[in-house]
Amino acid sequence: MISIKDAIQQVKDNCKPLLKEVIKPIEKSGNYHLFKDIHSPINMPPFRQSAMDGYALNLHDNKEYVLIGEIKAGDSDKPVLKPGEAVRIFTGSPVPDTANAVIMQEKVIQKNNVISCEGAIVLNQNIRPLGEQVMKGNLALVKGTKLTPAAIGYLTALGITEVSVFKKPSIALVTTGNELIEAGQPLSYGKIYESNSKMLQNALYNLKFYNVTLHKIEDDYNKTYSELKTVISEKDVVIISGGISVGDYDFVGKALNALEVETLFYKVKQKPGKPLFFGKKDQATIFALPGNPAAALTCFYVYVYIALQKLMDRETLELPRITAKSNSEFNKKGDRPQFLKALYKNDNVSILEGQSSAMLQTFALSNAFVFMPSETTKINSNDDVEVILLPI
Ligand code: AMP
Ligand code: MG
Repeated sequence: MISIKDAIQQVKDNCKPLLKEVIKPIEKSGNYHLFKDIHSPINMPPFRQSAMDGYALNLHDNKEYVLIGEIKAGDSDKPVLKPGEAVRIFTGSPVPDTANAVIMQEKVIQKNNVISCEGAIVLNQNIRPLGEQVMKGNLALVKGTKLTPAAIGYLTALGITEVSVFKKPSIALVTTGNELIEAGQPLSYGKIYESNSKMLQNALYNLKFYNVTLHKIEDDYNKTYSELKTVISEKDVVIISGGISVGDYDFVGKALNALEVETLFYKVKQKPGKPLFFGKKDQATIFALPGNPAAALTCFYVYVYIALQKLMDRETLELPRITAKSNSEFNKKGDRPQFLKALYKNDNVSILEGQSSAMLQTFALSNAFVFMPSETTKINSNDDVEVILLPI
């Protein structure tokens, strides 16, 4: 049995960034990260632009200017202003080369075709210079930048319609168990509703991994072997739930062995989630999570999460850990370190009821784990405890 720390290190060491490129239309690139630097194909703004509704001036040493025309946003004419002349102008309109300041309309009094300006006028005021944001050919966004709405807006403003981004892994979610019935079907005696696939699928969707297929297998060695063989040969990540423990009908370990999956660890000194398996075969990163739902989800957040971040070449691999004051007491049984379902709020954390690995009710109300190390046997109210914040 391996320690949590060593298990996490194994995951970090054995998952290599996928570094695969995929081209996405810009509108579908949200939440991907740029695979390459992007250099601007244009100057932005592409022309000298008025930042105000007002008047463009060719400055002279007098406050009065003769109005000779108007430039609306989108106009392409370039009137020539002599010193002492002005044109009416609007936010976003092109400022002609012969104008060297824009004055906001609130500071101007117009009488017929003459305007009189209030206050000091500074050279080039209220004019956005050509290429002020980015010059043509210069770095617009660096490799690795996450494509947020702002980034997508910015790149679209540069005329970019598609981007090269890091490909996300293909993921198979495999559930095992004869007792499992799909929700929506009648429940017969001895059966339960299969919930890990929807739960883990959603955990993946929350992290913006959408390339997920679901596979359901019975507790049958041959079926387990052949389904795992297929997904391991096809997918970047295989996440199996159940069948990895020591029961007579737990066939996952046996099938993984027969498929010559390299075992990087099996069994972690932790609660919940002791019978956790992590292995590799060719391109596939393989986790077999315990079937108990709370254990499966805990292992997902503590280990699978890190693997996914590493595959995506992200800098931060682990979930954020902070220290907070506990609102609750908790007595730990045994010497395994424990991840406790918890609710973190206003710098305090409450350890919730129902810590069994089979129970999800309070997991549904959790946004954090309290991590209780091996040597800690009791948490008292007001103790400082380590909190892991969940990505929900
Ligand atoms: P196992 O790890 O296969 O021994 O399963 C441990 C417990 O988790 C058993 O009570 C199973 O019925 C339950 N379980 C396993 N897989 C699932 C699943 N996909 N959905 C809900 N419960 C499950
Ligand atoms: Mg089972």
